[in-house]
Amino acid sequence: MKIYLIITLTFTLVTSCTSQDKKEEYWLKKLTKEQYHILREKGTERAFTGKYWNNKKSGEYKCAGCGQKLFSSKTKYESGTGWPCFFDVKDKKYVSFLDDNSLGMKRVEVVCSNCEGHLGHIFNDGPNPTGLRYCINSASLEFVEEKK
Ligand SMILES: [Zn+2]
Repeated sequence: MKIYLIITLTFTLVTSCTSQDKKEEYWLKKLTKEQYHILREKGTERAFTGKYWNNKKSGEYKCAGCGQKLFSSKTKYESGTGWPCFFDVKDKKYVSFLDDNSLGMKRVEVVCSNCEGHLGHIFNDGPNPTGLRYCINSASLEFVEEKK
């Protein structure tokens, strides 16, 4: 009986939370399952599975959630990690940095400054001139090829 009550209570709480949260409903409709998991639930795609880790075309990478310009192919480099990596952002104002101490690691999370979608993490083992490595999930990005 007790267990039944707890289950009902949890269920009611969860459903009432989701129905009240219009924003999350919006994202669920707008994004694919994988994009939602990564952008909104801070997931990580498996290495070498995303669509952009090996993309060498010139163009711009936008936020898959809101379309804000984030990275240029000019700052993308081959990191060998299996994720698209950049040594710089288009402009620092387009991203926010958050401390992430999950999984027993001290990392800095990178999120889109406009929609707060999770993009990936930043590390300081990147190439010159910044020495930074923005390690970003392909699913958080939308690539727009440059017209020649
Ligand atoms: Zn965004």
